[in-house]
Amino acid sequence: MHVTQHPVEGPLAVEPADFRRELLRTANWVADYLEAVPDNPVSRPMSTDHRRRLSASPLQDTGRPVAEFLDFVDTDVTPYPGGNGHPAFFAWITTPPAPIGILADLIGCALNASCGYGENALVDMERGAVRALAELAGLPARTGGVLTSGGSMANLLCLAAARTWFLSTRGATDGDAHDQAHARLVCYQSIETHMSVAKAARTMGLPPSRIRNIPVTADLLMDIDALRTAVEADRAAGLLPFCVVSNLGTVGTGAVDPLLEITRLCREHGMWHHGDGAYGGLGAVHPDLAPHYNGVDELDSLTVDPHKTLNVPISCGAALVTNAESLRAAFTAEASYLDGNDDWPWLSEYTLELTRPSGRALALRAVLHQLGKRGVIELFDHYLRHAQLLRELISERPELHLVTAGPWAITCFRYLPEDFAGDIDELTAQVAQRVQDRGEAFLATVRVHGRLTLRASVCGHRTTKADIETLLAEVLHVGRQLVTS
Ligand SMILES: *Cc1c(COP(=O)(O)O)cnc(C)c1O
Repeated sequence: MHVTQHPVEGPLAVEPADFRRELLRTANWVADYLEAVPDNPVSRPMSTDHRRRLSASPLQDTGRPVAEFLDFVDTDVTPYPGGNGHPAFFAWITTPPAPIGILADLIGCALNASCGYGENALVDMERGAVRALAELAGLPARTGGVLTSGGSMANLLCLAAARTWFLSTRGATDGDAHDQAHARLVCYQSIETHMSVAKAARTMGLPPSRIRNIPVTADLLMDIDALRTAVEADRAAGLLPFCVVSNLGTVGTGAVDPLLEITRLCREHGMWHHGDGAYGGLGAVHPDLAPHYNGVDELDSLTVDPHKTLNVPISCGAALVTNAESLRAAFTAEASYLDGNDDWPWLSEYTLELTRPSGRALALRAVLHQLGKRGVIELFDHYLRHAQLLRELISERPELHLVTAGPWAITCFRYLPEDFAGDIDELTAQVAQRVQDRGEAFLATVRVHGRLTLRASVCGHRTTKADIETLLAEVLHVGRQLVTS
């Protein structure tokens, strides 16, 4: 690349030589940090003092040298990472960043193009990345959509598309017809559905009384008979069932709802079928998971979160809509200062955001570049194999009890010695808390059929057999401490 010297001035200017030096110093810092992650605690408690200091305004009268910033990060920020990225972090579904994603994110920052408006290569690259996600998910080739900040935003976009579609089929997108129809809309989800769906519905003006929480069967799948009964009862009462949200990988246990049967019911009653696959939306690509995805190609929309199973750096979600025009209908707004092109609509027409980051699409593209379809399967295989190992080790110990086992890589279990006579939920909560406090491994808890369990999710490319063994050693150690104290 030919480089000419341009004068630098102003309060944000950094001399090119200084910038290059700081960039390299930062690059070395990042490499050192990532290499050392496994040797450091998964998490470290923060003192209230430290939290107060960070939460206070940092605004000083005069600015400080650029080179000092890394010192601040070193002393005040990185010692308290919150675990994500550590190979022994098994809580929630937060994952380590793929190295190539970090490189792409940096480039995205440097380019700083908005992926929402105007014409640039990143916008078209995002369209391609969305198509790749749709292909991995097993959706039809015509599927479109946008990347989002995550699954919560994707669920909101897809529910908005569902509503606009439903109201337009009844000629009720505006005026009195709209008001009358809107007040009668009903959305259905199972009791295992992620809370972001209820949040999205509320944001759209649907009160909690218009969201039906359908019970689940013994294996934690949406009870189709109960769903059918609820839809028929609502219709008989003059309400308007417009959308069912099914789970492709519940956040609690990794269960996949019976997609085909739910789609059939949706078609029967003129409803939209949205899949929340923030966790498991791409499962159809893996041969062991594929049998659970029968009918995925008939979904109307699907949320996926590449910042979960693909380990794309946070944040990267996606709203995939098989008829993308429904999404566009929900979010297009004319404005004299914007001038889109009908053949290549701006991505802002498909989402709430106008200015959108380029790093998100670039990081996803980068991870897909390195993985290819086979690499995605291999990565999921890595999660499934380690989850399987965890389940085997659990079954070898009489004081450990397996509660759920997938099909995704979440394992729910309890520490429960035979002669334990106390409160089991209380013991479970304390085991998780003590494991977290010790900083060797990190897991969460979740309620399954109303009872608390330990919950370990494997969703990181860096997790090894040794990390699984550490997790169980920790559970057994603190469990023993708790029941003998
Ligand atoms: C994580 C998750 C969400 C929310 O996604 P964010 O990226 O955290 O906003 C929604 N649904 C399910 C099933 C999830 O696992």
